[in-house]
Amino acid sequence: MKLETLAKRIAKKSRTPALEKIVLGQGTVQDLPDTCIIWHGAASGKNGHRQRMRRGYDNMPYTGISFDHRRPVINFQKKTYQIPRLLFEKLHDKPFPFRFHQLCATEMCINPLHFEPRKVNLFGYEPFRDFEAPPEEPIYSEEWGQEDVKEIVEIALTESTPLNWSELMSLPIMEGAPEKQVAAYLQSIGKPHLTPVA
Ligand SMILES: [Zn+2]
Repeated sequence: MKLETLAKRIAKKSRTPALEKIVLGQGTVQDLPDTCIIWHGAASGKNGHRQRMRRGYDNMPYTGISFDHRRPVINFQKKTYQIPRLLFEKLHDKPFPFRFHQLCATEMCINPLHFEPRKVNLFGYEPFRDFEAPPEEPIYSEEWGQEDVKEIVEIALTESTPLNWSELMSLPIMEGAPEKQVAAYLQSIGKPHLTPVA
């Protein structure tokens, strides 16, 4: 199966045409709805519950019931792909060797905006935040250090709710702020919709 076919199948089985572009690597976050996207295709895990032999504290066997969590999957080139991971990786154009944590409670949701890759560390999970950081490191000056940029952006976002880049940058507090560094910070905190449109 070609990638084009996979893209069409995913768009059809989710009843969301925008996903075709995403799978082909041509989509952006703006193409996605905020709401859950329900997968009508295959799922891993058996439907409902199944019986399993377990052992209690006294080591005596008993029959327990276990519930499989169903996850949306699709087969492509002899491999089974988890749809949310596939979409997320296509959207950001790179693989994420992390666990994907679902942020909504809809079992068959595949909206990549409702998932977050998390690193596992000694203390548990930690959101993987810097995946949007641009490869080119912004240069911070003496006047505008990384902490200063972070501080004014956080104040601006706390005091007002700018809808886009020009609304944000026209706030009095943002006057004279270095644009490249502000854009990089917005990416790093997962607010790419506020960055300037290319
Ligand atoms: Zn969802």
